[in-house]
Amino acid sequence: MSTVVAIDGPAGAGKSTVARKVADRLDYAYINTGSLYRALAYAAKTSGIAFSDITPEFLEGLTLEFRGADLYLNGKILESELRLPECATGASIVSAKPFVRDYLMPVQRNAAAQQWIVMEGRDIGTVVFPDAEKKFFVTASPEERARRRMAQSSEVADGATFESILADIIARDERDMNRAVAPLRQADDAVLIDTTGLNIEQVVDKIAAYCR
Ligand code: C5P
Repeated sequence: MSTVVAIDGPAGAGKSTVARKVADRLDYAYINTGSLYRALAYAAKTSGIAFSDITPEFLEGLTLEFRGADLYLNGKILESELRLPECATGASIVSAKPFVRDYLMPVQRNAAAQQWIVMEGRDIGTVVFPDAEKKFFVTASPEERARRRMAQSSEVADGATFESILADIIARDERDMNRAVAPLRQADDAVLIDTTGLNIEQVVDKIAAYCR
């Protein structure tokens, strides 16, 4: 039996950095599930298909798998392309489709079959691993999240301002929290971690302490 630490929360709460560091501390593998939705957005974009137009048939033609923590699309490793701002927006559009979530479920569950993992996303503690040993819901105010996103230049589109980033974060939260399938919400048994005003190490210390 593998052990799963589930870390969910909204965009820009610092989940990825925190989850990676918690995984290092515990010596677990780290799996970022947002990259799966981003990969499908990237596949649509490179095939000239609008995000809202992807179909189950399109997905059937793809192979998407984790090899350890690395994600491969059609046999090719995906890296910086996933951080493109349009892949983030596209991910939030394709992720609202139930057939997309069904398609990605086994990819996520298989990643936990062989190893102990820290898995990060929106619905890990509620839907993908409702029996996860440890669950955390990591959040921060929208303004704090926009400030942090601004500091990550690879995630910021040319010409973006604080106001446009904040508006984008709020729109993404709305879509993620209000979709019919697997909406973003805190699992009843998840520990809430508000990271507003905390630095990364303080958040990692808190989560690691709960895991020991
Ligand atoms: O975490 P990240 O910002 O990479 O996620 C991109 C988008 O993928 C999110 O806004 C969300 O719509 C979707 N997502 C999801 N379920 C997950 C992970 C990500 O719906 N478990």
